[in-house]
This record gives sequence, C-alpha cells and structure tokens, in this order.
Amino acid sequence: MKCFECAKENKTTDTVGICIICGRGVCMDHLVREKIPVLEGEYEVRLKCMGDACELKNIQPLLKILCKPCHEALKENF
Ligand SMILES: [Zn+2]
Ligand SMILES: [Zn+2]
Repeated sequence: MKCFECAKENKTTDTVGICIICGRGVCMDHLVREKIPVLEGEYEVRLKCMGDACELKNIQPLLKILCKPCHEALKENF
C-alpha cells in the first residue's frame, strides 16, 4: 500500500503503518505514534464493537499509529 498523504503530493511512498482511525496507510513521515488516553476506549468501541465482533477485552495501552490529519483532529478534541 502507498501512503495516502504522499499520494496527495504525487509521491509514492510505501506505508509502514495503518492509521487506527481512518484505516489509511501512512509512511514514516506521515505517521504519528501517540498513546491515546481516555479517548482510546471510545474509538475502539466505535470502530470495533459491532455486535458479536466486540474486541474490547483486547484493549491495551499501547502506542497507536495515526495519520497526520487524524492526529490533528484528535488534538482538537482534547
Ligand atoms: Zn507519506
Ligand atoms: Zn487517519
């Protein structure tokens, strides 16, 4: 997969991670590793808790990978 943000600049860069919020691939330059505190639960719930597929038990306080636009949006919500 190619980095979505790089694609906007007409570059093709291989991704090194996947944004946990929008699911887009991001390269080294465009990813943000952040420990997402309180909000993490809500995101996990929204993204994963769809009926029987709920994976809430698997939540761990690990660094999550975000793309830059999602990181910006998240910071604004704090
Ligand atoms: Zn990139
Ligand atoms: Zn994202």
